[in-house]
Amino acid sequence: MSKLDSIRAAESKLLLQTYDRNAILFVRGEGVHLIDENGTRYLDLLSGIGVNALGYAHPALEATIAKQSKALIHTSNLFFHEGQAELAERLTSRTGMDRVFFSNSGTEAWEGALKLARAHAGLLRSEGKTIGTKFLALEQSFHGRTFGSVSTTWKAKYREPFAPTLSGVEFVKFNNVADLRAKFSNEVCAILVECIQGEGGVRPLSHEFLAEARALASSTGALLIADEIQSGMGRTGKWTAYQHYGIKPDVTTLAKQLAGGIPLGAILCTEEAARAIHAGMHGTTFGGGPLACAAAITVIDTIESEGLLANAAIVGEYFIHQLQQLATEHTSIIDVRGKGLMLAAELNSAELAKHVVAEMLKRHIVINCTSDTVLRFLPPYILQKVHVDQAIQALDEILTNYSPAALTNSSVEEGAHRG
Ligand SMILES: *Cc1c(COP(=O)(O)O)cnc(C)c1O
Repeated sequence: MSKLDSIRAAESKLLLQTYDRNAILFVRGEGVHLIDENGTRYLDLLSGIGVNALGYAHPALEATIAKQSKALIHTSNLFFHEGQAELAERLTSRTGMDRVFFSNSGTEAWEGALKLARAHAGLLRSEGKTIGTKFLALEQSFHGRTFGSVSTTWKAKYREPFAPTLSGVEFVKFNNVADLRAKFSNEVCAILVECIQGEGGVRPLSHEFLAEARALASSTGALLIADEIQSGMGRTGKWTAYQHYGIKPDVTTLAKQLAGGIPLGAILCTEEAARAIHAGMHGTTFGGGPLACAAAITVIDTIESEGLLANAAIVGEYFIHQLQQLATEHTSIIDVRGKGLMLAAELNSAELAKHVVAEMLKRHIVINCTSDTVLRFLPPYILQKVHVDQAIQALDEILTNYSPAALTNSSVEEGAHRG
């Protein structure tokens, strides 16, 4: 039995069966490439679902992790360490926010942001304002898997098995200003958005919608909360996606790319929102530990010293242009969208999307499919045009060779072999 097969057999007996993994055992990485147990190199256009911003085995990140692991890995938030203020200074100055709370993951940052909104509305009520406890979230939203996050996440299959989820959440039609206006009132404590929806299919909010959300929230003291867990940290060519709109939320959340692969999340907020939180109201054992903070500081400094915001913008522009070109040659691509290195090509069938992801993997290129029909690209920020060319050529070949009838025949044969 191969090493991969024995691991698969053990996992199938020992783990909760939450994941439908690809049958590949990665053992290391280098730059934009992952390397499996046989030494085969894969071009990674997904970067661990948008996490590995600097790619693999970046010398600066390796050195920081090695050094910090020798000095101090964990102390708890009962004591000071060198990293949190230094990282908070870098994050606030780049995002226009005032204060930071560190968590371990995206969903924890989002939970904290929801709690902050409820606490802030409570503070406003204590000051005589009329403001309720409702959340307005968007259709196709994704905010994570813990209870508050899943309650504000659109897809019923993520929520319903765990019912009852949090009450007081209403979903607004995506980019529908009239629906937003109709559902907004002083019952609402926060409007929740992703400026570019990630899992929902890489869908950018319209400027008009975000501007209206900002105006409505400001009119009552409700908070505008932007989830930048996927779109933030430079992925779109700016530190946050809201900076493309010139509109500032009251609260934002970061995670995925933040510490380059070490788990770390952050809630960032304005001084006004921060008034709602005092000592003892919120906390975490691991969040913002010395190792994760040191890694995040290195991620930010490396993004800047290597000009990776500009690279994400330039290579992203090239990538989207090549995808648009491909769409003119293949009618199966019905839309191309995104910003920087957060890109998508929507196909005309879920079956085709699944086929393309599998065929790309056979050609040693890692991508994924979200929202059934959307091919998603979240590569490391060090991506170069030659890598884009390699991916586009493979996509072209796969789409050219695809015929649903042939696929049906071969899967019938495969089925017969298996049977
Ligand atoms: C991934 C993601 C989350 C959840 O982050 P986890 O670290 O998986 O908990 C929340 N919001 C958005 C927009 C995400 O992309």
